[in-house]
Amino acid sequence: MDYITTARRPLWMTDASSATPLLEQYEAVKARYPGHLVLFRVGDFYETFGEDAKLLSRELDVVLTARSADARGERTPMAGVPQHAVETYLGRLVKKGYKVALCDQVEDAKFAKGLVRREVTRVVTPGTVVEDGLLGGPEHNFLAVAHAAAQGPGTYAVVDISTGEWYHGSAEGSGVDGLATALAPFAPREILYAPSPHEGRSPEIPAVFRREFPGARLEIGPPPLEGPELPSGLRGGTGEPGPANIADRILAAYVRATQPRLLPFVALVDRASEGRRLVLDAKTLRHLEISRPMNPDDPHGATLLTAWDETVTAAGRRTLGFWLRNPLADLDAIVARQDAVEALGRRGAAIEELRRELTGIPDLARIASRLAGRRVRPPELAALRDGLARAAGLADSLLVPSDPPLLRSLAQSMTPPPRLLERLRSALPDEPPATESAGGLFRPGHAPEIDRWIATERAATDEMAALERTEREASGIRTLKIGYNQVFGYYFEISRPHLEKAPVHFRRRQTVAQAERFTSEALEEIERRILEAREHLRTEEAALWERFLTELDADVPAIHRVGRAVGTVDTLLSFARVAERRRCVRPTVDRSPALTIRGGRHPVLDRLLGERFVPNDTELDAESARLLVLTGPNMSGKSTYMRQIGLIVVLAQAGSFVPAQFVRIGLVTGLFTRMGFTDEIGRGKSSFMVEMTEVAEILRRADDRSLVLLDEVGRGTSTFDGLAVAWATIRHLHDVTRCRAVLATHYHQLTQLVQELSSARQAHFAVQERSEGIVFLHHLVPGSTDRSYGVHVARLAGLPKDVLDEADRLLRQLETEGVELSGRARGAAPRAGKYTQAILLSTEAPAAPSPIVQELRDLDIDHLTPMQALAKLAELRRQAREIERGEPP
Ligand code: ADP
Ligand code: MG
Repeated sequence: MDYITTARRPLWMTDASSATPLLEQYEAVKARYPGHLVLFRVGDFYETFGEDAKLLSRELDVVLTARSADARGERTPMAGVPQHAVETYLGRLVKKGYKVALCDQVEDAKFAKGLVRREVTRVVTPGTVVEDGLLGGPEHNFLAVAHAAAQGPGTYAVVDISTGEWYHGSAEGSGVDGLATALAPFAPREILYAPSPHEGRSPEIPAVFRREFPGARLEIGPPPLEGPELPSGLRGGTGEPGPANIADRILAAYVRATQPRLLPFVALVDRASEGRRLVLDAKTLRHLEISRPMNPDDPHGATLLTAWDETVTAAGRRTLGFWLRNPLADLDAIVARQDAVEALGRRGAAIEELRRELTGIPDLARIASRLAGRRVRPPELAALRDGLARAAGLADSLLVPSDPPLLRSLAQSMTPPPRLLERLRSALPDEPPATESAGGLFRPGHAPEIDRWIATERAATDEMAALERTEREASGIRTLKIGYNQVFGYYFEISRPHLEKAPVHFRRRQTVAQAERFTSEALEEIERRILEAREHLRTEEAALWERFLTELDADVPAIHRVGRAVGTVDTLLSFARVAERRRCVRPTVDRSPALTIRGGRHPVLDRLLGERFVPNDTELDAESARLLVLTGPNMSGKSTYMRQIGLIVVLAQAGSFVPAQFVRIGLVTGLFTRMGFTDEIGRGKSSFMVEMTEVAEILRRADDRSLVLLDEVGRGTSTFDGLAVAWATIRHLHDVTRCRAVLATHYHQLTQLVQELSSARQAHFAVQERSEGIVFLHHLVPGSTDRSYGVHVARLAGLPKDVLDEADRLLRQLETEGVELSGRARGAAPRAGKYTQAILLSTEAPAAPSPIVQELRDLDIDHLTPMQALAKLAELRRQAREIERGEPP
């Protein structure tokens, strides 16, 4: 995605005498903007040359032409887009992750001596846009800096300049993985990676960034900067430079280079300050399908966000998305949101009234950013005025006497400064013109000097109409009329048949096909007055408009604040509405180690399946049941159940009510899930290797306040390795991490081992066996199961009958003869096969404990490095195979 120009010496520069000045000018600009695609204004087009032209032609599907040959007969490739459509093309380039510099003609070609002066007037990158057409939708558009420290955790800074929100902090874990995790909930569209000075001279963008942020523009950021002052909004309450200071500075410098006008208006928003957020890494966000479906090609895939979205404004939608990706880990903040949701819910039908008032409030924060960036159109300011007025009204009707503090402070934040509303009302007409050049930007009476020029122009225009009538009557030519064109200005037009009657004081100006055009002294005099009035009007209105916008600048932070409050109220109302409609309860969140869910439902599936969804309980606690191990056949509901738990925790800590009858959650500070392990298979890594890396990462990062959800641990490999690893993982979570965890496994062999753990429980899903097959009841019951009903699932999947029959026959044989088949199939002695399985499978104690079991039992995994563990594993497997072949170990 990143666009790096290769150092190249274009042909037209190899021979100075043949270099065309225009291309030299272009090259000079390119040299100053490395890594940018330079769009170079030439007349009515933005052009690119050389390699960039080929690239532009390819990416935008525009024609590749060539600029005239130089002395050697070389022709330079050239491709361009028309100026009037540049925004559309910019949108497409930005979406593809390019960084574009627009180089404009900064003097009028008419007055230029030689080459027109050109300068870069605008830099457009995916993370620094404010235009609606360039932003993907209402969701946040984050630009991030990730700064790797020489040692220990790195720091990051993130900004959405389209709303003015800035966040920063230090990563939880060390290294680039920690940074990737910290940035994941922001889903940045553009990331500058600032390596630590120790990374040498040619640092690379870390692979984890490419993996976790596909579609984001990635760039090696500048080295840590000392220089520029941080904007006042970042210096915050304490005035102390925070831990993320270096990242802040790099980010500020980048914003200054791309959107200099917007930098002063960014502000730290404390609602997600570090340490108060539930850590969700990129994989957990993906596996739980919080805001994006697992399958990125499925734009309609249901996510938690789509299932939970009852917002009515762009700001609300944005806030909801942000809250769900950034649940809180701060009890007070969670309870404050819950109180607000409850208070709103108590109003019953009245919340519909509030939502109606919200509807139609435009995206205030983004209009403010466009205002600050001078990319605002006059009608947007009228929308701002009307939206702010609505917000003010809503702030009034929001509050009832007993309201909790959060609603009170929101009502306050939602009230725009009265002076701002007054300014917008008195200045803007009801419906301003579509563009700034159209005139009529101000309400009559707002600016007397402008009104005067408008009156002058109007009077002169009236006079001209009178003149037309007079001349028509005097000459008797009924078709005589006054017209206007760019070259000749105003003229009388007389069609050919009436030419003889043309008055003597008319002077001929132009001949056209069927008519002659004339002027007269009187007409010229009126024209002069009209043009003069228009010129004054144009320059004075433009100057006044700029002054007006500059005055409004001071209120940009206030508008940002109102916009955020609107988004928050909308989100809280959405929570209240969903709670009501989807039979949710207010979860108790406290500091206990409990995780109790009664009658819990999967927020997304529950909605899709309705009555058919089977609710289930979850009961984890520190003492008797930290760990829950799920066994049972495919399709019985294990993955759904685990996701349901994860999603309920996310919702609860985002402040929402949850789909259940009763929920109590001891605050979770980190949620780690691995589901399916399908992510990277096909990218060259074996699935087992991927799984092991991921499990290793979780074991490293989880602590006793974490919730770990592992689906099908050890799946990616053959029975023995997988089983051993699954067991070791469970053991570690149980004994060392001591966190709450739910694990699903198809190794029913594990159940025996799990029984030995003091704080682990087992459960499986009930299955009803009928003559025509089995029915999954999706109802959780205690204890383990060793039935897998694989053949049944295969039938559901539509395998051919002969295959099913053969599978059925084999299964029966297996069930009656034990596991001898595996031994026989490999041509080994039947007895050995039986022994192998007995080690871990039999519910009776084996006659003599296998040496492998003894080894496993005595293994001190806490003091093994991953390498040693792997070596041990290989050794155990070798022994196992020897036993299988009938050789004594
Ligand atoms: P497993 O992980 O055990 O293979 P899944 O969780 O993938 O099973 O569930 C398989 C299917 O069963 C789901 O797609 C869903 O349609 C259905 N299902 C799962 N849990 C429930 C439930 N609690 N109520 C109703 N249907 C369910
Ligand atoms: Mg599953």
